[in-house]
Amino acid sequence: MNTSCSPAGCGPRAPLTPEQERILREHGTEYPGSSPLNHEKREGAYHCAGCGALLFRSATKYDSGSGWPSFWAAEPGAVATARDTRHGMVRTEAHCAACGGHLGHVFPDGPPPTGERYCINGLALDFRPAEGAA
Ligand SMILES: [Zn+2]
Repeated sequence: MNTSCSPAGCGPRAPLTPEQERILREHGTEYPGSSPLNHEKREGAYHCAGCGALLFRSATKYDSGSGWPSFWAAEPGAVATARDTRHGMVRTEAHCAACGGHLGHVFPDGPPPTGERYCINGLALDFRPAEGAA
């Protein structure tokens, strides 16, 4: 189900920038605090910048103070995870289930009801405000 698609389709709006390619395809990480989506409070949906799949909704977004857009839940089945042992740490890597694009990581220190924190690179997301959102 994807009700937020326009008649033009669900694909990405614009070609990816080199920085977006670096994050999505090479597990890059944007500089903390650099994403305007950190402060995005409008109602809407967060899509994969790589393929346009719906990943998160604004209702699950919260301010974690981490410097990256954070969510306590993903759309069911939209985000897949993998064990990541890069950089000498064991973390849970999160990627788009549709295209495999790297999004960020999932940590077990989020708020209720899930207790999960999806720590996501803003550049991996394409925010689409809800119709009529202020
Ligand atoms: Zn994708």
